[in-house]
Amino acid sequence: PDTVRLLTSSQVITSVVNVVKELMENSLDAGASSIDIKLENYGLDRIEVRDNGHGIKATDTPVMAMKHFTSKICNHDDLERLETYGFRGEALGSICAVAEVAVTTKTEEDDISTQYVLNVIGEIVSRKPSHLGQGTTVSVLRLFRNLPVRRQYYSTTKKCKEELKKVQDLLMAYAIIKPDLRLTLLHNKIFLDGFFPKPGADYLSTSSSGPDKTFVFINSRPVHHKDIMKLLRQHYAAQYPDGPCRNRYPTLMLKVSVPPSSVDVNLTPDKTQVLLHNKEDVLTAVEALLVSLYASQPR
Ligand code: ADP
Ligand code: MG
Repeated sequence: PDTVRLLTSSQVITSVVNVVKELMENSLDAGASSIDIKLENYGLDRIEVRDNGHGIKATDTPVMAMKHFTSKICNHDDLERLETYGFRGEALGSICAVAEVAVTTKTEEDDISTQYVLNVIGEIVSRKPSHLGQGTTVSVLRLFRNLPVRRQYYSTTKKCKEELKKVQDLLMAYAIIKPDLRLTLLHNKIFLDGFFPKPGADYLSTSSSGPDKTFVFINSRPVHHKDIMKLLRQHYAAQYPDGPCRNRYPTLMLKVSVPPSSVDVNLTPDKTQVLLHNKEDVLTAVEALLVSLYASQPR
């Protein structure tokens, strides 16, 4: 029966864009006026769709991902006056068969939201209180992990980029037909934060022994990242046209936050060296931040 379930589900859920479409339609059916979509690694590691819709009633949660459960029609006549995108009750259950799914939801009646973790057959395996507001957030982790051939399809960056483009096109179509809808898409978002020297300050530490006052963190972990260090040193050294500052590093603190799935911390036992899968994106973002920080008041 597990194999049958996997086969039928993999016919309903065929791609990243397909998952995004089903989840978005559920959000629209729930009357959402705001939908936020986040993807990690083109959706293969994580797809998250958050809405501010009416939520899922506590009594419906045990069956929400059961095959053919739908709250959208009660009888055959309802089909005639169908105003929702969904009515088959197939999507959520099928996604559970091909990925790891968690649903966080809160209705108007609920005091707080609850996060439900579902198993491959759509049963709730755990629940815990959560802090989210009214609406529903569905997260889909490691899509097609149990379908290596399907996963293999996404093994090239080219295919992944094509898929991302399809997601963007899909969202564009909904944005056109639903002009009141607030819709966002984030892919591998990087957050940067920190303390930087004031424009015009003496940027470089007096020590020439190494980057002892340049603190770089990746997801709260202190790291030595050669390329980020090099970028920082070059950026600040360039502020001294006479260049008395070889091998001196700026005094600053930089925090980089990236999706956990895009860092590998197991390069060295002390975990101070990390591999960033999207290194170029991070370097570009750090450089853009530095440029914008100092653009208005050049030294
Ligand atoms: P269908 O959309 O055909 O009803 P799904 O498998 O997509 O079937 O969803 C199953 C049920 O889970 C829905 O009928 C609905 O009750 C509930 N549900 C799923 N997603 C949401 C959501 N974002 N907001 C509110 N209810 C939802
Ligand atoms: Mg649906």
